[in-house]
Amino acid sequence: MALQKCPDCGHDVSTRAQACPNCGAPMMQPSPADSAKKPVTIERTGKSYKAWTIAGIALITLGFLTCANYGASGGTGTQVGISLIILGGLVGLLAQATGWWQHG
Ligand SMILES: [Zn+2]
Repeated sequence: MALQKCPDCGHDVSTRAQACPNCGAPMMQPSPADSAKKPVTIERTGKSYKAWTIAGIALITLGFLTCANYGASGGTGTQVGISLIILGGLVGLLAQATGWWQHG
């Protein structure tokens, strides 16, 4: 158990104590819970944003691959490929917008 000096009377007080037992002065609480929570939230936001961006890029890549495969014959395959590219673009754009909205 760590001890800290009371800022008012200099008495040794446990860091877990809410107030100094000698003079009753409120103690500064080192709050590892609060400081630990914030970066986790930011990281979670960042990760989901990154996941959606990756999903968008994957869809665009898939669309281009579909276009390349069906490029010669055209028709439905090319349309599916173009749809995938547009969908991927939308997902990526939405991810960027969400990231911008949550960080701004
Ligand atoms: Zn005190």
